[in-house]
Amino acid sequence: MNMMKRLSSFFFIFVLFVSFLPAPASVSEREADRVYINGNIYTVDSAFSTASAMAMKDGRFIYIGDDAGVKAYIGPLTFVSDLEGKTVIPGLHDAHVHIRYGERELYSRTPDIRATIGEWASVERMQDVIKHCLATGEGMRPGPEPRWLVLSGWMSDVWDPPEFRKELIDAAAPNNPVYISRYTHGSGANSKALELAGITRDTPDPSGGHIKKDKNGEPTGEFVERAPAQLTKLIPPLPSMTDYEISRNLVEGTQLAVASGLTTIHGASMTGYDEIQRRIKLYEVGLLRIRINEMVRENAAKKLGKPFNHNNKYFVRSVKAFADGALGSRGALFLEEYSDYPGYYGEPRQSEDQIAQSATELLKIGFNMRIHCIGDGANRVAINAYERALKATGVEGKKARFALEHCQVLTPDDIPRLAKLGIVASMQPLHATEDMNFAESRMGSERLQYAYIWSELLDLGVVVATGTDYSVSPYNPFYTLHAAVTRQDRDNNPPGGWIPEQAMTREEALRAATMGGAYVMFAEDILGSIEVGKLADFVVIPVDYMTIPAEEIWKIKPEMTVIGGEIVYTRPVQAQK
Ligand SMILES: [Zn+2]
Repeated sequence: MNMMKRLSSFFFIFVLFVSFLPAPASVSEREADRVYINGNIYTVDSAFSTASAMAMKDGRFIYIGDDAGVKAYIGPLTFVSDLEGKTVIPGLHDAHVHIRYGERELYSRTPDIRATIGEWASVERMQDVIKHCLATGEGMRPGPEPRWLVLSGWMSDVWDPPEFRKELIDAAAPNNPVYISRYTHGSGANSKALELAGITRDTPDPSGGHIKKDKNGEPTGEFVERAPAQLTKLIPPLPSMTDYEISRNLVEGTQLAVASGLTTIHGASMTGYDEIQRRIKLYEVGLLRIRINEMVRENAAKKLGKPFNHNNKYFVRSVKAFADGALGSRGALFLEEYSDYPGYYGEPRQSEDQIAQSATELLKIGFNMRIHCIGDGANRVAINAYERALKATGVEGKKARFALEHCQVLTPDDIPRLAKLGIVASMQPLHATEDMNFAESRMGSERLQYAYIWSELLDLGVVVATGTDYSVSPYNPFYTLHAAVTRQDRDNNPPGGWIPEQAMTREEALRAATMGGAYVMFAEDILGSIEVGKLADFVVIPVDYMTIPAEEIWKIKPEMTVIGGEIVYTRPVQAQK
């Protein structure tokens, strides 16, 4: 860091400090509600400074420093806790989650193959699950015979050959129509389902989707992104969830999040207007305690008319959209054809014109857009559209803070444009360590040089915010920190890391998981670090994140999670006998 930056941050802290010490300060005004001493506190301020003590009052930090200095804040009613040398880091952000999908693990309505067996299923294990469901009726939809079986969660990249084929399902289910969603962005069906839907070699692709065909032109049973409507409309729907079930899934899903050390999650499921109202109500009755930064539907933003912030707990000021699909399913949009599927470029979801128009209209009413972009084609479309919106409104890039969700593959020409246009890269380190087995076959070694380039973007001054895309990847910020630092999976593969020069340092990874998330939600003045004046969000962990062996980072389990000074999670303790 240069000296000017350092001086200006000291000045900023000094001003805050002064503003929290009314002169003359009476003892009761300085008396903290709670003080923590004897800690190893990584503040993640601009100098990445450490401290041993912190004091808080009314949910905010009022002192960060050493054990001697904090004494001035201890009054007769202050509760003083000894951290016993344990490490404290700022409350962690997950900048991209699909919280409602938590139902897939918590209360499954459509049986999920991965969740059922606890790992990606081999063909044989998937067939076993299908046979089990046909025998027990689990996952069978109501309706006339032959009844539909609907499941989710296949992943063909662990198969040999790594391709979905309808015959694999036919072998377990010759008589019933079967439809199985891929774990994301695609699906597959068996021969009976194709027959009932009338899908043949002559059926054209649906809009927003692609019917995969083999070299003889016959449908393989796999659908990239959207499946044809003539098939999906035959599937008897499940009864819609009750209000209670929706609220329960949300509340219990966020309890999982705070237990893993998250204090703010960024919802990426295009929340609608009515669902926003439900969530406000859940905050009002005290059922939601985590902070949520919501990416809403465009029409919900327009109906709201302007961004809002409910008690610094529930933030609505971003709009989610999609420019393409996923890499695994080959829905990601590339400028050149797929290396392992010649003639195919992926699935565009919205045009540059559409995105530019939306981004412009939304920016005028104060919302930033956060667009799902995986392939270099989708990233190009979104960057062009953002540039046009900035030009049309005259808003400075750093004030607009448009984001690329995933931002997985760029071109050498587009990389510097992120810094120039103030675009935030909202990335998922776990996607790199999960995609590493098939990324090169999809895009080839040339394009791979410009994929998952966290370190390069950081060096260019781009703000990187990290997340998991839960439930695509597990809901654990320490898995994210581990993948960011090692570029390895949790079995330490590959040795030395996958494209290790793009790994983050531990400091960068922690910053991306705290200040990065705070920045993209325009809350870096109140969240993201342990500094005087900020909301008291932090996590106590039993080991030193900065010094333990890197391969141990994913094993870190929080001992305590605090949001706004309130303890929202502690590791279970044994009741006294
Ligand atoms: Zn997502």
